[in-house]
Amino acid sequence: MARKTGQCLHGAVTFTAVVGDTIQACHCVQCQRWTGGGPYFAVAIENLEMPGAESMRDHHASERGERTVCGTCGSTIYWKMQGKAPQILAAGLLDDQSGMRVTEEIFVDYRPSWIPAFGGARQSAEADEMAKLDAYLASQST
Ligand SMILES: [Zn+2]
Ligand SMILES: [Zn+2]
Repeated sequence: MARKTGQCLHGAVTFTAVVGDTIQACHCVQCQRWTGGGPYFAVAIENLEMPGAESMRDHHASERGERTVCGTCGSTIYWKMQGKAPQILAAGLLDDQSGMRVTEEIFVDYRPSWIPAFGGARQSAEADEMAKLDAYLASQST
């Protein structure tokens, strides 16, 4: 984990965060449309500081999820649970992506045939992710 900087395409949304060097690729249909040709490449973040956040816009594309973009340039910023702090952020926003690699692919049952799998990355299907979500929601409701 290291503190890194990043920004949206037009530069109004800037941030610093402590990020890991592993990337999760989500191939779900929503991420394909959201990114304009997925997957959504996400890095885990901690201690996010985002001074330009007021220029972002949120879209509730599903019952629990929230997809945030720059309201001006449309850059993909992050997916998060509604009402929660973001835990992952789009890897492409980072100024320095050196040393990072894709270690997990999720919703692989929706990966388009023209996108090859990443060598060595864990593969997780929709059913696996839904089971994880159910377990998470159960842990939150107790
Ligand atoms: Zn997705
Ligand atoms: Zn922007």
